[in-house]
Amino acid sequence: MVETVDRLFVHCRELITLGDGPPAGPRRGEAMRRIGVVEDGAVAVSGEWIAAVGTTDEITRKYRANEELDLSGFVVMPGFVDCHTHPVFARTRENEFHMRCAGADYMAIAASGGGILSSMRSVREMALEDLAECTERHLWGFAAHGTTTVECKTGYGLSLADECKSLQALQRAAAAVPLNVKRTFLGAHEFPPEYRDDREAYVRLLCDEMIPQLGKLADYCDVFAEPGVFDRTQSQRILLAARANGLRLRMHADEIQPMGGAELAVQLGADSADHLGRISDEGIRALAASNTVGVLLPGTIFFLAKPGYAPARRMIEAGCAIAIATDFNPGSCYTQSMMLIASIACTQMKMTAEEVITAATINAAYSLQLDREVGTLHPGKRADLCVLDVPSWRSIGYSFGGNPVAMTIKNGVPIVANVIERNPDWFQRGSDRASQ
Ligand SMILES: [Zn+2]
Repeated sequence: MVETVDRLFVHCRELITLGDGPPAGPRRGEAMRRIGVVEDGAVAVSGEWIAAVGTTDEITRKYRANEELDLSGFVVMPGFVDCHTHPVFARTRENEFHMRCAGADYMAIAASGGGILSSMRSVREMALEDLAECTERHLWGFAAHGTTTVECKTGYGLSLADECKSLQALQRAAAAVPLNVKRTFLGAHEFPPEYRDDREAYVRLLCDEMIPQLGKLADYCDVFAEPGVFDRTQSQRILLAARANGLRLRMHADEIQPMGGAELAVQLGADSADHLGRISDEGIRALAASNTVGVLLPGTIFFLAKPGYAPARRMIEAGCAIAIATDFNPGSCYTQSMMLIASIACTQMKMTAEEVITAATINAAYSLQLDREVGTLHPGKRADLCVLDVPSWRSIGYSFGGNPVAMTIKNGVPIVANVIERNPDWFQRGSDRASQ
């Protein structure tokens, strides 16, 4: 009995399914290295969902479709899940980047008007419609790089009105772009200048007004917990207020100096602890014993040319669930390429290609509570595919600097097709074959 589905993707040189069966919980240790490669693979899609995966032979014997797309020569994997980004900003900051390259330190850059506060000024000046348009453009940039699910933080408004505008801009942009978007309120990104001399008043504003009023516009609350920014007590107060208002928690933790950030994230039941360049041994132990995902952001360390990559090997060996993400933002990491991040993770943190694939898909999805919906290629999940113009999955990590994403498929539909220019008859060929 041959079943009719909406679409078949066939003849994938390699189909990376992320292994057998739906996973339970985030993947750790050896399980991070099981990626489930099917040669000459195929995916049957019904509506927005995967109906079946297998070899092309198996799938075409069981399924027929009006649209059949031939992906010969391409490696196909789950769409990337970028679980840490800051795309709600108005202007890029290339000037301060070049100052930094020329040797200027953080204080000199801040004195010239750079840093987070320059992003804050431009967001505050920009109208909602324009900020939504900038954000929408950034979301399409993720799609162009094979990302189908993205977590997006605010944090350049730093006032009730401007964080509200940022969340509304994000909501409009997300409605206009066919990606899964999780929205994170990051009012605790920095202290705005008007509260420089009364930090306690800003923490109160966050807990008593911003979180209760803006919480319904967000899925998550995040805090930049770092000595000199939000200290441990302030971070805890903010995250507890968020939890009391129904938000789930994420945390910028132990990036520059250890302060027990990972331990606090675990203690509060946060879904992720992010950065972790200076995580302590106790922090690694706490993370390994929890379901909090360690989200590593090696692109930032690379771009800032600083020491302090997270100890990924020690963390994986201790049993921590690890994800990787771009940290896309205008100051410290201006890339939307998960392929580039994969490369930096391999070369600088010594992760294997298999670990990087797991970290960029299912573990990242778990950190967003979307592991039942995305992150692997299994029946019942969204048909979100990243089609790579590379000879093998081993090119992930190896290939860097270009964009080998030939096509991004979201909910079974190609939304970005960089391959079309090279193969203008590509869609035609698929439907011709189906009608034969
Ligand atoms: Zn960040």
